[in-house]
Amino acid sequence: MIYLDNAATTPLDPLVFEVMKPYLLEHFGNPSSAHAKGRQVKVALEAARKSIAKLLNCNASQLFFNSGATEGNNTIIKGAVQKFGIKHIISSRIEHHAVLHPIQHLEIEGGVEVHWVKHSSNGAVDLKHLEELLRNNSDVLVSIMHGNNELGIINPLEQIATLCQKYNALFHADTVQTVAHLKIDLSVVPIHFITASAHKFHGPKGVGFMYMKKDFRVQPLFEGGAQEKEFRAGTENISGIMGMAKAFEIAHESLDEKEVYLGHLKTFFVDELAAKLPFVSVNAVNTDTLENIISLSIPEEKVGAMLLFSLDMRGVMLSGGSACSSGAVKSHVATALGLDDATIIVRISLSRFNTKEELIDFLQVLQEAVK
Ligand code: PLP
Repeated sequence: MIYLDNAATTPLDPLVFEVMKPYLLEHFGNPSSAHAKGRQVKVALEAARKSIAKLLNCNASQLFFNSGATEGNNTIIKGAVQKFGIKHIISSRIEHHAVLHPIQHLEIEGGVEVHWVKHSSNGAVDLKHLEELLRNNSDVLVSIMHGNNELGIINPLEQIATLCQKYNALFHADTVQTVAHLKIDLSVVPIHFITASAHKFHGPKGVGFMYMKKDFRVQPLFEGGAQEKEFRAGTENISGIMGMAKAFEIAHESLDEKEVYLGHLKTFFVDELAAKLPFVSVNAVNTDTLENIISLSIPEEKVGAMLLFSLDMRGVMLSGGSACSSGAVKSHVATALGLDDATIIVRISLSRFNTKEELIDFLQVLQEAVK
């Protein structure tokens, strides 16, 4: 079995599981309870917040735990519109559905005009067009992802944030694919909101966080309890949060080494591919991309429409694009980039647990599938 779908989700790091276990068993208290069991986990919860905040270089009071990026993106986008009287949203057509759908929802509801920023043929956001849109509109929220989950393109977070600052626009970045993969220093980037999910960096599923800049607290999505400084009602997922903080810490211990390792794997794979299967092309070249994502276009006539199924039968697990839309014939990202209908898009997404040997085996399997 070769797992090459880490942009969909990553395996839980066993060290993370060890940290989570006591919070599922003996430390089961509710952090809102005033008694000892509650107070004990409340202390742990705040320590986890501080540890993540330290690595992002922000204040712990600016981080809010939640169920992950889908909730975070919905909260920020809808909540910013409500709270700050946003009239224009600028976003890109290659965002994840967790950003696109809330934006489209707001557009249908009325009151908000949506502007789609252009991008180059390889998917990179067109900064000139972004500036033009910012110049011509006021009361703006910009929501542009940091790293694209299907193609691996990295958008220049700092440049976008600086442009937004120049034109007084709020800036949200879906950082799901980059948090704990790339160094993000929130004391340097003038960004208002970021969103993340722990399961993308070897943490547990169903837990994540949002960052909100001081004085830019949006309207909460949920009503209920007073958790998370009255911002996110609902009993906190303590074991999940403890696991997320540990996974975040582990990722930051070797951020650079991991980049180098994954970069070697990527270069090796792309070179081997060019030599062995020259008709396969790599998408999003000549632009900044994540080392762990390789997006390929393969002519359907060479491999047949059932390539992913056939690879799965041979023990290789990967996606055509986003796992959440893998049932779709062609993803919205491929459509937005005008990728040829007659090609199959294959996304290989790696983690630090993948090895060169696995890639050699995968290439062998791919060659067999082509035959
Ligand atoms: N945004 C991006 C870029 C993603 O890749 C994903 C998950 O694939 C999400 C948002 C949604 O994350 P979750 O399903 O953990 O809420």
